Amino acid sequence: MERENAWQKYTAEKDKKKVFKFAEDYRTFLSNCKTERECIDFFVAEAEKAGYVDLNKIIAKGGKIKAGDKVYAVNKGKEMAIFNIGTESLEKGMNILGAHIDSPRMDLKQNPLFEDTDLALFDTHYYGGIKKYQWVTIPLALHGVLVKKDGKRVTVNVGEDPSDPVFGISDLLPHLAADQMDKKGSKVIEGEDLNVIVGGIPAFDKEGKKEKDAVKTNILKLLKDKYGIEEEDFISAEIEVVPAGPARDFGFDRSMILGYGHDDRVCAYPSFVAILNQKKASGKTACALLVDKEEIGSVGATGMESKFFENTYAELFAAMGDYSELKLRRGLTNCNVLSSDVSAGFDPTYASAFEKNNAAYLGRGLVFNKYTGARGKSGSNDASAEYVGAVRKIMNDAKVSWQTAELGKVDQGGGGTIAYIMGNYNMQVIDSGIPVLSMHAPCEIISKVDLYEALLGYEAFIKNA
Ligand code: MN
Ligand code: MN
Repeated sequence: MERENAWQKYTAEKDKKKVFKFAEDYRTFLSNCKTERECIDFFVAEAEKAGYVDLNKIIAKGGKIKAGDKVYAVNKGKEMAIFNIGTESLEKGMNILGAHIDSPRMDLKQNPLFEDTDLALFDTHYYGGIKKYQWVTIPLALHGVLVKKDGKRVTVNVGEDPSDPVFGISDLLPHLAADQMDKKGSKVIEGEDLNVIVGGIPAFDKEGKKEKDAVKTNILKLLKDKYGIEEEDFISAEIEVVPAGPARDFGFDRSMILGYGHDDRVCAYPSFVAILNQKKASGKTACALLVDKEEIGSVGATGMESKFFENTYAELFAAMGDYSELKLRRGLTNCNVLSSDVSAGFDPTYASAFEKNNAAYLGRGLVFNKYTGARGKSGSNDASAEYVGAVRKIMNDAKVSWQTAELGKVDQGGGGTIAYIMGNYNMQVIDSGIPVLSMHAPCEIISKVDLYEALLGYEAFIKNA
C-alpha cells in the first residue's frame, strides 16, 4: 500500500508556516552544532532555560526528586539523558526517544601536523562510514577541544565565521588522473590521502634563510600566538574536520534542508524538543536519550553500549528514595522505545538499490522499520508485531503521517542502530526515523515535513506509549 504525502496536511499558509518555523529552528541548530560536544552544550543550555536541573547537582547536595520534576544528566560532555518525571513509579518503565548525535567526519590524528614541499598539512583518520572521494575539494572547518599540559581545555572552532579561513583536501587534476580514474570507487581516494592543507608561508631566520620545516614552524608559531596551542597539545585533543558553513534551504520551494550531520541530529533534535514541549509528564516518565559513537558501533563510555543509561536510571530511583536492584531491572524491562535514526530515502536516480514497496520516501512522514540489519537481518532489532501495532495506533490516533521501510533491497547492504542494545534490557524497541538523501555525504538532504511529522510522532509517543 502507498502512504500519503504529508505536505497535503499543510496546504493552508498558516499550517505550512508551522512546518517551516520548526525547520528553521532546526537549520540553525544544525549549522551551529557540528560535533557531539556542541550538540550537548546546546541541549544543556536549552534544557536549563526550560527549567531542567542537572541530576548530578541534585545528587551532590543529597537532594530528592519527585513526580513533575525535570532533570537531565550528561556523560563526559558527549551524551545526555533528559527526563520529565511522570506520576507512575519508575518501576513501570519510561517512554524513551533514543537518537545519536555523532556524525561521520574526519578526526585529526594525535600527531597530525607535518610539512611536505612547502605546504603544512594535518593528517586525519576518518570516523564512520564515508565515501572518501566525497570529502575532497570542499571547504572544511575544524571543531573540537584541546586539553593543554596544565589540564586547561581550549575550544576550537575555525572555518565557520565568514571572516575565518577554511581548510580542505586536494584532489588530482583530471589532466593527470588517468591512473586514478581507472581505480574503483573505494580506492579513488584512500584513507591516507585525507590530508588537510593548513598553510603555505615558511618561517625565515634573521639572515633571511628558510628554516627546516619552515612552513610547519610558522604554523606552530601562529597557533601559539593566536590560540596558545603547542604541538604536543594535539596529543590530548579531539579535533573534528567537518564541512564548513551553514545548512541551507534546498529546492525552489524550500521544502528541504541541505546540511552536514542530519544523521542523526535530524532525529535527536525533534526528540529533545518533544520532551521540552511536554509541559507536564503524563503517567510514565518521558526521556530523550542522545548518544555518541553510533557511527562506529555504539562502543565506549559515551556510546549506547555504555552503562551510563542504566546507572542514571538507578540514580533516579535513589533520588526518589525508592532504589532497589529488582525495581531497576523491572523498570528497564518496562520501557518503551522509539530508537530513531535516519532512513535511506528513496532516490529516483538510484532506484535500483531500493525495493519500491518497502522504501522510505521524502515527504511521507516519520519512518518505522520493524527490522534493519544486513543479509538475513543480521545486527537488527526486530520489533514484535504487538509493539508495532501499539505504535501504529498511537501514530494514527494522533494523525501523524508515517510510513514503513527497510534499508534498501535485500542483500544490497544494510546497517544497524542503537535499537538492539536497548533491546538487551528487554525493552520494547522499534527503529524509527527520518528519510535522508545522500546519507553520510558531507551534505545530506532531508524534507522539512518529515522533520515536523517526527516531532508530532515523538510528542504522541511519550504521551501515549
Ligand atoms: Mn545514524
Ligand atoms: Mn549513520
